[in-house]
Amino acid sequence: MQTLVIGGGIQGLAAACALARDGHLVQVVERERPGSRASWVAAGLLTPSSPWKYPPGLIGLCHASEAMYADWVAELVEHTGIDPQHENLGMLYPEGVGFSTEQVAEHTRRRNELAFAVERLDRATLDALQPGLGEEVVGAAWQPHSARVRSPRMCAAVLRRAKQLGVDVISEVAVDALVGRGGRVTGARLETGQVLDAEVVVLAAGSWSGGLARSLGVEIDVRPVRGQILLLQGPPGLLGPTLNDGDCYLVPRRDGRILVGSTMEDAGFDAITTREALDRLRVLAARLLPATRDMEVETDWAGLRPGTPDRLPYIGAVPEVEGLALATGHFRNGILLAPITAALVSDLVAGRPPRLDISAYAPRPVDPERALLTG
Ligand SMILES: Cc1cc2nc3c(=O)[nH]c(=O)nc-3n(C[C@H](O)[C@H](O)[C@H](O)COP(=O)(O)OP(=O)(O)OC[C@H]3O[C@@H](n4cnc5c(N)ncnc54)[C@H](O)[C@@H]3O)c2cc1C
Repeated sequence: MQTLVIGGGIQGLAAACALARDGHLVQVVERERPGSRASWVAAGLLTPSSPWKYPPGLIGLCHASEAMYADWVAELVEHTGIDPQHENLGMLYPEGVGFSTEQVAEHTRRRNELAFAVERLDRATLDALQPGLGEEVVGAAWQPHSARVRSPRMCAAVLRRAKQLGVDVISEVAVDALVGRGGRVTGARLETGQVLDAEVVVLAAGSWSGGLARSLGVEIDVRPVRGQILLLQGPPGLLGPTLNDGDCYLVPRRDGRILVGSTMEDAGFDAITTREALDRLRVLAARLLPATRDMEVETDWAGLRPGTPDRLPYIGAVPEVEGLALATGHFRNGILLAPITAALVSDLVAGRPPRLDISAYAPRPVDPERALLTG
């Protein structure tokens, strides 16, 4: 089948690989460089930050995708030679800076209820696991099974794999509108005026998906949530697990760099960094890990998470438009949720029953008055 994927972020590229593996002819159209927007910016954590805030439908999706990750990455490394550095080095949730001991106790209980196994550590045990934490830190919750990847490498690997699988990736051309007739999508019109025909169109345009869906009369509520990050140059080995303090996380890389993120801002489509936010992150990072105070800032960046007011993504068919599939609105978890979303989209296009219940991710009534939850 001729399929057209709109958007070359992690979602579009992962879906394209899965569709090509099923034998479809696949084109991806990307307005900029593939994998250069939210998917490049992401911290690459494969554990949801505050899962108790999620609707139940999302927890199962996160677990299912996480379970696919190691095999997915192994396949990418084998075929592309690009290593996204998938590492399972755990996550620490410190007590005493952003969260009180009582809050960490409550979060621990809730995480365990949702099958994200976490245990409490006192300061002495914590010091043995991760030396050098700030003096305000009195203990932590420890999630030993918590993995991460380097998102830019993930994007590069999935892009290369897509091309190997025969996907035609068209870059630096925007789709202006979806086109269709008689209740079905028939392709997309590019900004150049050219129309690309397709039997199936997968809309995976991240924060920009809403406007494209509307061009065919479909209402979905995807809105940008800005996140800012800064990158510090540290010595290798200083930090092992990820530190996650709610408002601030520190994600170490093998080469010693430490990524400090991130903000959650309802700031429209303006993907810029601000001095105030970066200074705040820097201060929080130093309270958690004082050695960061003397580290050079290598760079900083911002990206737009495709948020939805109910925190649920849009995955699957659009009942009123035959041939249109959605893979968008993954908010804070788009890197984590890429393998399961791609599998579900390919199930749909192939006519296979979905491997899990996706009814919660179908288009639902849009309420423009409903606030976007940025927490
Ligand atoms: C600061 C920050 C930290 C994050 N950390 C994590 C994390 O640790 N773990 C995690 O799982 N997720 C994380 N995320 C979320 C994750 O980045 C997103 O959920 C994910 O990248 C969404 O992927 P996407 O492909 O839908 O969107 P994008 O990567 O934004 O891709 C959409 C693509 O569509 C293209 N496009 C848009 N309009 C058009 C058009 N008209 N024509 C053609 N192309 C178009 C865009 O150029 C873009 O490349 C983070 C996000 C941010 C901002």
